[in-house]
Amino acid sequence: MTRTILRGGHVVTVDAADTEHADGTVAIEDGRIIAVGDAAPAGWDDAEIVDASGCLITPGLINTHHHLYQWLTRGWAQDAILFDWLVALYPTWARIDADLVRSGAAAAMAVLARSGCTLVGDHHYVFPQGGGDIIGGIVEAASEVGVRLHATRGSMDLGRSQGGLPPDFAVETTDAILEASIQAVSRYHDPSPDARVQVALAPCSPFSVTGELLRESAALARDLGVRLHTHGAETVEEEAFCRERFGMGPTDYLEGLGWLGRDVWMAHCVHLDERDIAKFAATGTGVAHCPSSNGRLAAGMAPIADLLRAGAPVGLGVDGAASNESGQLATEIRQAVLMGRLRSGADRMSGRDALRIATMGGARVLGRDADLGSLEPGKLADIAVWRIDGVEHAGIADPVAALTLGAQPPLSLLLVGGEAVVRDGELVKSDSRAIARRGADAARTLAARA
Ligand code: ZN
Repeated sequence: MTRTILRGGHVVTVDAADTEHADGTVAIEDGRIIAVGDAAPAGWDDAEIVDASGCLITPGLINTHHHLYQWLTRGWAQDAILFDWLVALYPTWARIDADLVRSGAAAAMAVLARSGCTLVGDHHYVFPQGGGDIIGGIVEAASEVGVRLHATRGSMDLGRSQGGLPPDFAVETTDAILEASIQAVSRYHDPSPDARVQVALAPCSPFSVTGELLRESAALARDLGVRLHTHGAETVEEEAFCRERFGMGPTDYLEGLGWLGRDVWMAHCVHLDERDIAKFAATGTGVAHCPSSNGRLAAGMAPIADLLRAGAPVGLGVDGAASNESGQLATEIRQAVLMGRLRSGADRMSGRDALRIATMGGARVLGRDADLGSLEPGKLADIAVWRIDGVEHAGIADPVAALTLGAQPPLSLLLVGGEAVVRDGELVKSDSRAIARRGADAARTLAARA
């Protein structure tokens, strides 16, 4: 039996009552939280004590949308909107393989872990012929860094010759995608409550997949008992594509193919009207909010405050590093506050609202809210301990504002299932310098192939 007590920090539980403990403790036994409060449980004299004075203690942050392979193409097409950016990058992405993706994914996940992220959602949709077991490479990289992974078997089957956006050489056949989806789930999906790896199915977007693939993927996922993910309502160009091709907006189109429901989450959802928002709320369809990427690609400002008020599940996402070179998750909390206020007003998105999106919101979006997302007895010990007594934050009136409005605080400790993954800002299980070198080598190799 392993017991640990985090002691002396400002604990933000993100429970239903928004409980905080100014000088609090979190008691952990065998990877789960046993008690949270103002004092350690009686009889825990054998526990390892972690002094968290000068620190803010929050649930580990949950990333609900990413494309880890894009670590290899940061800094490309810097001034393009989504469709032009995709067209510029597809030919290069079509030359990836499992080894390159593993190297890029390890670097992206190292940066995520160092920014407080304990659960990484990834959306991988580029599978070149002969590229090897790419999902397997991503699973290995997550294990190397020590974070939980929600991988998705993504897909594209609507090439340019059929009226889609991607070039024909970057897409697969519908049948091959469905077969590979079954394989990925049977190899890597773990349905247990403390799972380190889960798998979902994720056709890429309305403009890169057929309606048949969307319908078949939804049926298959429900048959296999896994979740569904895609991009939705990201840009005005996507809206125009759907109206011209299907005679309706993306939300109505996806609804008609079985793509609204408690087991579905969609990235972006920037261009939703009131009717769309009501549908997301009524069906429990989740949203992955990616404010930096939406800014980088000038996609627009998502109506997050309206979605929250309607009761829709909303999580936070970094999105791929080719449209958000930062790759950090904690900084997205501040971006969500700023963008939420620009869209809806200063009183509609507090720092604590954004922290809730980044923790409990993400857990709900990914179907893990029974075990993750808050610091409560019985939950898995996925915990971030932020140092806020340095020059950037010392003396701030509200310790929570240090994280939600201030500079990203140094990470004193990051626990996944009670195990240390980051300590004093550095990875514990692997060497971030070696990961950086491998990532840079892989980016050079890919650029040389393009
Ligand atoms: Zn995306």
